[in-house]
Amino acid sequence: MSNLTNPSEIARETLRLLATRRVPPTPDNYLTIYHEIAGTTPNNNAFPEKQLRSLTAALPKGTPEQLRLARQLEEAVKNSNWESYQGHLADFCAALAETQKLAWAELINDLLRQWEAKHIGLTVARKRESLEHVLKGAGASQETLFTRLQNLLRSWGEGRDSPAGENAASNEATAGGEAVGKSPRPANSPAELLPEVRELFAFTLESAIATQLLESPQLSSDAKVLAKEIRKAISLDELQSILGKLKRFAFKLELLAEDQSELRQSLLNLLRLLVENMTELVMDDRWLLGQIEVVREIIDKPLSQRTIDDAERRLKEVIFKQGQLKQSLQEAKTAIKLMLASFVDHLASFADATSDYHDKIETCAEKISAANNISELEAVLGEVMKETRNIQFNAQRSRDELRSAQDQVSVAEKKISQLENELEETSHLIRHDQLTGALNRRGLEETFSKEIARSNRHETLLSLSLLDIDNFKKLNDSLGHDAGDQALIHLANICRQTLRPQDTVARFGGEEFILLLPETGLNDAAKTVTRLQRELTKRLFLHNNNKVLITFSAGVTEFRAEDDQASAIKRADEAMYRAKQSGKNRVVTAP
Ligand code: GH3
Ligand code: MG
Ligand code: MG
Repeated sequence: MSNLTNPSEIARETLRLLATRRVPPTPDNYLTIYHEIAGTTPNNNAFPEKQLRSLTAALPKGTPEQLRLARQLEEAVKNSNWESYQGHLADFCAALAETQKLAWAELINDLLRQWEAKHIGLTVARKRESLEHVLKGAGASQETLFTRLQNLLRSWGEGRDSPAGENAASNEATAGGEAVGKSPRPANSPAELLPEVRELFAFTLESAIATQLLESPQLSSDAKVLAKEIRKAISLDELQSILGKLKRFAFKLELLAEDQSELRQSLLNLLRLLVENMTELVMDDRWLLGQIEVVREIIDKPLSQRTIDDAERRLKEVIFKQGQLKQSLQEAKTAIKLMLASFVDHLASFADATSDYHDKIETCAEKISAANNISELEAVLGEVMKETRNIQFNAQRSRDELRSAQDQVSVAEKKISQLENELEETSHLIRHDQLTGALNRRGLEETFSKEIARSNRHETLLSLSLLDIDNFKKLNDSLGHDAGDQALIHLANICRQTLRPQDTVARFGGEEFILLLPETGLNDAAKTVTRLQRELTKRLFLHNNNKVLITFSAGVTEFRAEDDQASAIKRADEAMYRAKQSGKNRVVTAP
């Protein structure tokens, strides 16, 4: 409590306290704190308009009387008239009690009356059975029991109150319909089904509306139509037809109940499957995603047992398959990783020379180790394959080119070798004497040129000698031409074997030979030729095991600066001639 008296100050202080106390700023709280500050007491005797309006709204208004009294109560609240409200409320309660009492009394009276009355096709036992069924089915609800008893009694009463006259009147409108009520019906005749049908209808409808029909507008409307039809039905045919319809309706009703409970169970199963397995599903697999899509499509359609069964079957397939796939995917991933890694190692070493390729493959290797799923690996694999194909293509091309080049070289080598052989052969043929193997005239010319050039270049001496076999004509004549040939071969061989390798033996004509002796002066040349003579006497030519002495006459000369081949040969020839002249088998020098 404070000393504030000014209302606006009290109001301000009230707001402050509401905030500091963290009290919700409702009118009631405001009022309480306001009075607390002002030191006044709240007016607790105020008319509780709000509460009374809410109470009035909650009262039942099922009958005109209740509705009338409720309006009076509302009026009393509006006028804040507490006395008037109390009075009307008492009236309302009395009327309510009276209504209920009367209704029950009426119902029980009706029950007693109809229990004793006779109903066609309705035995007492049957009535008891129906009544017990209603009493049992109503449970603790007085209202349900009241309604069901009313319905039961109505069905009994309608069975009894089916006078023949009414049937006849109705049948006038039924084309060709036979009047059911004109003659007394035998017991258990089809017409006696009427009350049974009505009873069946009452109970079925009752339980259906109470349990399932609210969920099925179609069946609910069917039930109403049937109710109308059965109340109007008089003829046997109509009854038969309605009975059939009613049985079908009941059957549909049962199915609906079963279907719905099964559907509910199936949906729960499906949901459980999804919940249990969804986190385990391998979501990056395209096959699985496709399957889940199928399940989704099935569920999206109007639900039926079949669609749910279908969805459940497909989902189970998915779950089973994903279990397998997850394992094999993991293995495949590992295998691909390993394969790619070794592949890359292999290729990286292969591609050492190609730095660009090496870099690319290294990048690929990094991507592979970072890859989390098959599609990423596939992409890297694609990249590796592309690069590899390039390098393989290049390598293959290089290898092909190399192989082709090798083949070409090999072919070329063979060709060259062959050509060289041919050339050698041809050259030999051109430059050598076929019989003795010594150079021929052309060979001599060539070699002589080279030796002259070398002699000039190195300023060395070059000597030459011309040999002519003595009395060769006689040898030919005595031993035969072949022996003469062999004698020529023998002399050439002795020359080659006796002379130095750098010396040259050439057949100049028939039985004449020229020897070229590089780096040899005249005297040495003469000595060499003399030595050759001695060799010939030592190594006699054998013909038919007969030793044949071959001798020659030789002229030796030194090549001079002013010489050419012919002049030098001419001098040698002149010296040889002199040797002949002087007795043969001797060596004559020409200075
Ligand atoms: P000289 O001692 O004076 O030289 O007498 P010669 O008989 O050796 O000289 P000539 O020139 O009279 O005879 C040379 C003979 O050499 C003539 C020829 O039949 C023979 N002759 C030349 N070439 C060949 C050949 O290739 N083979 C054989 N068997 N005889 C040849
Ligand atoms: Mg001669
Ligand atoms: Mg001769």
